Amino acid sequence: MRALTVRPGVKDSLTLTDLPEPPESDGPILVETIAVGLCGTDVEIVNAEYGEAPPGSDVLALGHENLGRVIAAPPDAGVAAGDLVVGIVRRPDPEPCAACRMGEWDMCRNGRYTEHGIKGLHGFTRERWRATPDAVVKLDGTLADIGVLLEPTTIVAKAWEQIERIGRRAYFGPTVAAVTGAGPVGLLAALLGVQRGLEVHVFDRVTDGPKPGLVADLGAHYHSTTLPDSGIRPDVTIECTGAPTVVVDVMTHSAVDGIVCLTGVSSVGSRLPVDIGDLNRSAVLGNDVVFGTVNANRRHYEAAAAALGAASRAWLSRMITRRLPLEKFAEGFERRADDVKVVLEVAT
Ligand SMILES: [Zn+2]
Ligand SMILES: [Zn+2]
Repeated sequence: MRALTVRPGVKDSLTLTDLPEPPESDGPILVETIAVGLCGTDVEIVNAEYGEAPPGSDVLALGHENLGRVIAAPPDAGVAAGDLVVGIVRRPDPEPCAACRMGEWDMCRNGRYTEHGIKGLHGFTRERWRATPDAVVKLDGTLADIGVLLEPTTIVAKAWEQIERIGRRAYFGPTVAAVTGAGPVGLLAALLGVQRGLEVHVFDRVTDGPKPGLVADLGAHYHSTTLPDSGIRPDVTIECTGAPTVVVDVMTHSAVDGIVCLTGVSSVGSRLPVDIGDLNRSAVLGNDVVFGTVNANRRHYEAAAAALGAASRAWLSRMITRRLPLEKFAEGFERRADDVKVVLEVAT
């Protein structure tokens, strides 16, 4: 079967190749891939900055943001032939650690977890894959066009869940949320904020292209200024850029009792002058929380499926700015100014 693979550690080794059918040992549910979304993690893997092949393989099938349709499943699998499904990207470590044992592999303590298309497990940019029932989440059948957005939505479903859990430390009645970065994760974070009835402000540098309109049509407010320049003091901030100056801005401009959630991964080595005394003083006197979050467990996949189900399908499909057949994968990795989410269509 066709698969898009890399040789981990070898730059620009991305190629469309033949892989054997998935072995039955991968699980009793056989799934046909419909589509795979591309993101920065895939670019890092193609650039050989990241990525690990499954044991015994030289190559790694790429792709973690996925959507498929069940071809065959045993009667007790919880899904049946024809169902739309998404494969859960991260799997618990073999030990398992205390977090993985609780089904919270997103909080894995020992780093020995595996991830489809990233770390030790083939990804979903292959025509068929197999899984165990605990490794797939069923989607509403009407989400066939946009279900590939589920995986990035799980990231923000977890972020919002964690924000609300942290909020329960005391009185919590947020009204204003800020999101920095209007890429796919930022837009989905804004969507979930609007769904919670919050006044949502999205900050990004661009002034044209699809992002301002997507934010406006969500009922949120788009800013091409910075958070400090806007004068807004958000109760909840979700940082989605990883840009060091933006990270400092969000940490120093939240409301009293504010919660700041960091989701963007920065590269290391950036040094900025920061007044630590002021940062600490305002954090203490303002009961501030700043926390990081990564990945998602099954609970977040289910929350994300509900969030997508409640959202406008038309708005979600506008987030997918290019859909390419698998054989045009190289075009998918070309950055274009108006890209939000680029998707490879695998099923023919
Ligand atoms: Zn991704
Ligand atoms: Zn673990």
